[in-house]
Amino acid sequence: MSTNKTVESVYELVLKRNPGEKEFHQAVREVLDSLVPVLEENPAYADARILERIVEPERVLMFRVPWLDDSGKVQVNRGFRVQFNSALGPYKGGIRFHPSVYLGIIKFLGFEQIFKNSLTGLMMGGGKGGSDFDPKGKSDNEVMKFCQSFMTELCKHIGADTDVPAGDIGVGGREIGFMFGQYKRLRNEFTGVLTGKKLNWGGSLVRTEATGYGLVYIVDEHLKAIGKSFEGKTVTVSGSGNVAIYATEKVQQLGGKVVAMSDSNGYIYDPQGIKLDAVKQIKEVERKRIKEYTSIHKGAKYSEGCNGIWNVKCDIALPSATQNELDIEGAKTLIKNGCICVAEGANMPTTPDAADLFVESKVAFLPGKAANAGGVAVSGLEMAQNSQRYAWTFERADAELKNIMVTIYKNINKAAEKYGKKGNFIVGANIAGFVKVADSMLDQGVV
Ligand code: NDP
Repeated sequence: MSTNKTVESVYELVLKRNPGEKEFHQAVREVLDSLVPVLEENPAYADARILERIVEPERVLMFRVPWLDDSGKVQVNRGFRVQFNSALGPYKGGIRFHPSVYLGIIKFLGFEQIFKNSLTGLMMGGGKGGSDFDPKGKSDNEVMKFCQSFMTELCKHIGADTDVPAGDIGVGGREIGFMFGQYKRLRNEFTGVLTGKKLNWGGSLVRTEATGYGLVYIVDEHLKAIGKSFEGKTVTVSGSGNVAIYATEKVQQLGGKVVAMSDSNGYIYDPQGIKLDAVKQIKEVERKRIKEYTSIHKGAKYSEGCNGIWNVKCDIALPSATQNELDIEGAKTLIKNGCICVAEGANMPTTPDAADLFVESKVAFLPGKAANAGGVAVSGLEMAQNSQRYAWTFERADAELKNIMVTIYKNINKAAEKYGKKGNFIVGANIAGFVKVADSMLDQGVV
């Protein structure tokens, strides 16, 4: 709890207005606590009630998604889109399909997205969407029917200059394709209304790899700043989805050794280093469980329960699965085992007490809104290419991504230092992301 009256009253308001939405409360608490020195230095923000406005989404959509399963039975899911803040551009943020999705998850993700998008330096507002639909175990036909129904409602509220969704947990190229097809059919327009599209029809090279590669680029920049590199480092990466796979790929390219990965059932440990081709085949092609890895690579060990991954000794940990997956016990073990850097590939994977412990223990802790901004950054580049009706080379998109991640690292470092919190990248990221949005809101009047 801070001693700042504005911060406390805004937080009280958030609790009162958004009962039971604990992930949203957690995300707001972290940002507000970081902003105290900026608020004290700039009374204009409090006068214009910037905080009260920034915690309130501009628009919240919630809708029924009915669809027919393969047996002809009617299924009903709930769809969401939270259009949080458009001070910097059209709303931009992913769509998540996972049974745990409810309004509090979408609001936390949308709120984080405002500051993340600001950090990229591109003109994008913040938003997020999703559904409690579970793609696991569904046929391609069922996934298509669900996506078409979801987009039948969502298409009334989005557009290339209004709101441009992308993928997230449970939403990859296949789902984006089905949603894009339905949008085009209903609106009779071929526009860059979604990012993460496949390459033949408007996608950007490097978008698939962007979040994982970007994560590793920012860690690499930090390692350089302290006179180290990935060469010879042992790394654990939780998850085995889009972010985890491409983070692992880039770590390996830079000479690091990834020894553990996970899914929601358990984790694999391969002391020789994970063979990524096998993981890609299991997770991307066959859509099976990570456990299968041990039937191909006999030297590897599988353990039930995904949290055990933090017991694996490593120099660098990249939590890249889901929110609150790395708790205080995991943090203590990582620190005891000599981990020097934790960077969040996922959104809010570290519990607040665990994050505080890393900062206190001088373990470099790079928060998701900075560390995983590479995905939305290349989505922004995809939008730019769509507007130009032109496609960049892999090298160009990758170089832009790298440049954006290096700039983010410099900016969050500078902001932390300016407010007397050198090395605290949580504070640095929140302040650097916030100031640009807040100043734009001041410029745009009371809206
Ligand atoms: P995917 O759906 O591709 O992969 C998610 C991975 O996390 C899977 O291995 C999944 O395991 C695991 N997982 C999901 N839910 C849980 C859970 N409750 N407990 C343990 N493990 C779980 O998603 P992404 O890789 O795209 O996203 C991962 C994280 O990165 C999310 O927090 C997302 O918001 C964030 N992110 C993603 C971006 C992107 O560009 N894709 C951009 C920025 C952030 P299983 O297969 O068993 O479900």
